[in-house]
Amino acid sequence: MVEDMTTPLLSDSEAPADALPVCLTSPTVAILGSGDFSRSLALRLVASGVRVVVGSRCVNRIPSGLFPDAVELRNQEGAVSQAVCLVFMALFPEHYCSLLGLQSALAGKVLVDVSNGAEMNIHGPSNAERLAELFPDSPVVKGFNTVSTWELQTGAHDGSRQVMICSNSTEGKKKVVQLARQMGFHPVDMGGLSAAREIEVAPLRLFPSWSGPVVVTFLLFLFFYGYGFLRGILLPFLAQGGHNAFYRLALDLVNESLPAVALVTLALVYFPGLFAAWLQLWRGTKYQRFPSWLDNWLQRRKQLGLLSFLCAALHGVYSLCLPLRRITLHRLVNTAYRQVKAGTEEPWDELGVWRSDLYLSCGVLGLGVLSLLAITSLPTVGNTLNWREFTFVQSGLGYIALTLSIMHTLFFGWDFTFHIEAYPFYMPPSYLLAVVVPCIVLVCRCFLFLPCIFTRLTRIRRGWESKRNCPVLQHHHVEANGIP
Ligand code: NAP
Repeated sequence: MVEDMTTPLLSDSEAPADALPVCLTSPTVAILGSGDFSRSLALRLVASGVRVVVGSRCVNRIPSGLFPDAVELRNQEGAVSQAVCLVFMALFPEHYCSLLGLQSALAGKVLVDVSNGAEMNIHGPSNAERLAELFPDSPVVKGFNTVSTWELQTGAHDGSRQVMICSNSTEGKKKVVQLARQMGFHPVDMGGLSAAREIEVAPLRLFPSWSGPVVVTFLLFLFFYGYGFLRGILLPFLAQGGHNAFYRLALDLVNESLPAVALVTLALVYFPGLFAAWLQLWRGTKYQRFPSWLDNWLQRRKQLGLLSFLCAALHGVYSLCLPLRRITLHRLVNTAYRQVKAGTEEPWDELGVWRSDLYLSCGVLGLGVLSLLAITSLPTVGNTLNWREFTFVQSGLGYIALTLSIMHTLFFGWDFTFHIEAYPFYMPPSYLLAVVVPCIVLVCRCFLFLPCIFTRLTRIRRGWESKRNCPVLQHHHVEANGIP
């Protein structure tokens, strides 16, 4: 692949007349710096039919074969003098000052700042703004920093295709946008150079939209795990004078907590939507902003759904492993031995058979539907669906998954829920705690289907406003009463 990229796809003579007319007639693009980014960028530019000259502080130090043959290696001054319009600054921003001697040679040329932020710079000028201060006679364009060397080398098809670009110079931005397109990228115009800070810290962000959902899921897991430990292991141990069930910590308790977390997290996916609907009904308008916590919650539904799917899938795998446990074998053999010794056999338990089949079936179906939701949340799949299809899958099938999961839990609980033994130390089983929020969600959803509520909500969502909250109607009312 890399070898293929060392030769230009388009030589100058073959280049279409309309693509970068200035840049293709001479060695237009210069790259200052001969490091990793410079090498990958040069490979990509050459493969895109662009002539490249690399400017290094010490050309002799560059090993032969590091750059494609089509790339010219010069000292920094030589490279800058050859560049007609664009100069990529492929060096760390701390070293920009070392180029001050080239100020006059760089004047009028577009400097492309590809640097990333060293830390989450929330205040203070960006690297690109500092570069613009150092070279006031050169338009500065921020871009390409979100593209890794790997993405540059493997081609736009394998990596991210988006290149965020910003600049105060329209002409400079236009040139970089053209070049990015020629290289097979999707340039995204982010506006003026003040957006550079945002672009620079973009590669430093660690799953910004995932932290909240991950913390919520983790806390839920801790709660159910701790609750199960207290109820099923620690308190019986203390009360029954040393009945040791600590072996349950590794698998049993994890497998007990995971479905509870999956169920509550799935309910949390649909809770904010319902809350928003009830808020709109109460306000009688959709034109008032939701509180920011609700906005944030609504934006994290996809992540919550995927985490719910992860917990449900893990629960499935854990459950499949249950027969492999040593304790299962131990119990099975001992029960069989006791029955043989006593001359009895396992009685046929019709109700028990129904119960286990029903809860297993609901669980498998619920996991299946949840998998479908997870798959359609992938942008590549989701983009192929129209709005109605997407709503059907994410909302319609989502509620089906939630209902199946609740049924799975209730069939599991069966009538044990009504036995006093299910409440040792007055503590209900975890599965009972886990169905509370999902049941509230289902009931609230059912209320929204009541014709009087459904009609009002539909009208509100199509722009109708109640007189109480509509500023336009209130204004007319005031005028009609002769009050200015
Ligand atoms: P690198 O491998 O360390 O290369 C930096 C180059 O800067 C050196 O090879 C050196 O080339 C040149 N340079 C010029 N003046 C210098 C000076 N005074 N002191 C030291 N070096 C000097 O770094 P890199 O990974 O290519 O990164 C370069 C820039 O690209 C950084 O701003 C980085 O944030 C950005 N970037 C990198 C990646 C990536 O994946 N690596 C991705 C996006 C953005 P000469 O010795 O030939 O002059």
